[in-house]
Amino acid sequence: MFRIVSFRNDSILQNPAIKKRFEHYLDVQNGKKIAHYLIAKKTPLSIEKLNNFTIQELWDIHKKTRKTFNKLNHQVQDGKLSFKEIPTPQISFLDLKVYIASIILNNCHFCERSCGVDRTKNQRGFCRLSTESVITSAFLHIGEEPPLIPSGTIFFTGCTFKCIFCQNWTISQEWGSINKLKEGRIIDPQSISQIMADLSKNGAKNINWVGGEPTPNIHNILKSLTFFKENVIQLWNSNMYLSPEGMDLIVDIMDFWLPDLKFYENQFAYEMTQAQNYWEITTRNIKQAYDFGTKEMIIRHLVMPERVAKDTFPILDWCSQKTEQAFVNIMGQWRPEHKIHRNSAYQNLNRRLKGEELQDARNYADKLGILWREVS
Ligand code: SF4
Repeated sequence: MFRIVSFRNDSILQNPAIKKRFEHYLDVQNGKKIAHYLIAKKTPLSIEKLNNFTIQELWDIHKKTRKTFNKLNHQVQDGKLSFKEIPTPQISFLDLKVYIASIILNNCHFCERSCGVDRTKNQRGFCRLSTESVITSAFLHIGEEPPLIPSGTIFFTGCTFKCIFCQNWTISQEWGSINKLKEGRIIDPQSISQIMADLSKNGAKNINWVGGEPTPNIHNILKSLTFFKENVIQLWNSNMYLSPEGMDLIVDIMDFWLPDLKFYENQFAYEMTQAQNYWEITTRNIKQAYDFGTKEMIIRHLVMPERVAKDTFPILDWCSQKTEQAFVNIMGQWRPEHKIHRNSAYQNLNRRLKGEELQDARNYADKLGILWREVS
């Protein structure tokens, strides 16, 4: 089921802009820095048990422990403290996150939809996932942005959007009914950890959490990291429609961000994805990810027919003002997939992108000083 393909192309990593903007990413690969999830595993809690607290008290402990994590992280990354000499705590920051995630499952709000279903009782929300994660494939992906390949990509089924043009609709939307799984296999956290180990042993530059959408699987992703030990970059490849709580659980853990930013106009976004307040939610989360971590990020923007002035330009304006150090992958691979070609309301989208539309987008990025060539 899992394909391992060998491929190395390191010349892009010598690019001066990549070296400057992706320092943590490159240093973890060289063993000079430590992946954030490993620091979270060494960050101690000031309590001995997790089950005596309300959810609010647990979030308060999380907030307090984050300060300890940040301090430890700086000391280790700056070489003032040897990672190997830090004792392993009885309960770690990562354990706390796993525990909080298990409670959120009772009233699911990993994403902004806040369905409130009890996934532990097999109730299903918009994404239709119970507590179990389903993986369709995991392999060394050579189709990602050049600095990321080979990327140890793990594809989950299910999504928090229902894009009418989705190119991955068989795994994001039509992967199965409640009783019958059409795509993928159910997988437990320990097995996910074994997949990560295989991918990193075979040369993955990062572990790339994707789908579908990784957000409904936060609980199993965090748990799998408690079994994993390798110093490998954790990369979040997502539509970024997480709730504030979902973001809080992963923002300290991920080293690198690969967010989508597709729409500026909320009404159009809703028609395309069934997601409310697309712009406010996704930019809130992208900004948090950017500000909180090392600012190592590639924002993916898919240019769509007749949407360059309406979506692409304001999105690029926002990126140049709010995430100045991020690269933007200006993507020209729009295809009228899935339901779009059957929907008469969107006949204007039922064609490939014109060369001049992509060029307009890229010229505008150049005008704003956005770097895109290295990653597009
Ligand atoms: S992950 Fe989002 S869509 Fe899925 S059940 Fe939870 S809140 Fe609903």
